[in-house]
Amino acid sequence: MKCSYEKNCGSCDCIRMEYQATLDLKQKRMENLFGRDALPVNGMNFPYYYRYKVTYALSYDYENRRIVCGKYKKGSHEVVSMDDCLIESRDAQKLVHFIAELLPQLKIKVYDEDTQTGSLRYIFIRQSFATGDMMLVLVSADSFLPGKNHLIEEITKNFPKVKSIYLDINKRTDSLVLTDELTLLWGEKYITDKVMGKKFRLSPLSFYQVNPQQMKKLYQTAVEFADLSGTEKIIDAYCGIGTIGICASDKASSVLGIENNESAVKDAVFNAKANGVKNARYICGDAAEIFSEKGIEADVVFMDPPRAGASKEFLKSLLKLYPSKIVYISCNPETLSRDLETLRRRYSVKKIQPVDMFPFASEHIETVCSLVRRDKIY
Ligand code: SAH
Repeated sequence: MKCSYEKNCGSCDCIRMEYQATLDLKQKRMENLFGRDALPVNGMNFPYYYRYKVTYALSYDYENRRIVCGKYKKGSHEVVSMDDCLIESRDAQKLVHFIAELLPQLKIKVYDEDTQTGSLRYIFIRQSFATGDMMLVLVSADSFLPGKNHLIEEITKNFPKVKSIYLDINKRTDSLVLTDELTLLWGEKYITDKVMGKKFRLSPLSFYQVNPQQMKKLYQTAVEFADLSGTEKIIDAYCGIGTIGICASDKASSVLGIENNESAVKDAVFNAKANGVKNARYICGDAAEIFSEKGIEADVVFMDPPRAGASKEFLKSLLKLYPSKIVYISCNPETLSRDLETLRRRYSVKKIQPVDMFPFASEHIETVCSLVRRDKIY
């Protein structure tokens, strides 16, 4: 498939290439870092319309007197209008365009960055892959968003998949899309997605992978690499809303999730309960600090840090904790490679499985890496 906006839209790094060529490029990058240890990148059979979290920017084209809805041109805040993005959920795109077309009729003004006037700035949508349900966030610079009631009426009448509508007030001057000034305007507070037979509630600000089909492969690989027998105590470090630990919970004796974002911890506690998981508990705090606390023990540690990788303190306390196995889920091969240097002192790398989470969009690669304690290898 060919993208019609490749010249102007700045969202995708590799959209001009054939999909296989993008995978080859990613493979090469992995091999440069990890040599023959890197397994072939796990790609998608149909690498299109896969993003289930989308953001559209809005602006007003004064010359043609129309609202423009799309993505920013690379390196600028000029909005490139687009009707069919090849990588984003089709349902979400339909909803975005429906809203953009209704705005003039409802006299809802879009925000003008230069004059700092008008209201609606962005449309943000999260969709559940399992149910198709959508959560819509209208991001406005204006605390009121005049015309919103009429807009909600039209949306809910025409899009039964929309289950939740929020208003987010964003008066900031940088590019952050969602602030924490969120109000539920209509419907449910959460939508639910399912992966590996477990359900997870999602709110506008929760961290959740944007590509649900590849996310499933990522978590399945992580659980498979841990090779659990049912008796292990596991730690899910950097657990977010609890996904990985909950997916592994049936095969473990206990799960301890550690996460420093308070609202993610609340979601993790809720998710464990909603799935009937009785062997999981959660601590809100810095993973490195919790690791060095008394009484913390684990046979297997799953760790899924942000792009910057793990801190020196974390690695130090992980080596002290000395679990039999570590499964490192990484969103940045460079920091993974750096952290492995430290861990290799006492662990052997068993498998490195790259997963393509962002076909065409980005050169980023997600990786699952398993490590086994040296003295456990016979
Ligand atoms: N494992 C989850 C989330 C991974 S994203 C999933 O697959 O969805 C990384 C998570 O680490 C984020 O939720 C972030 O809030 C958390 N985090 C970042 N730094 C941390 C730290 N120092 N200690 C604990 N958690 C941290």
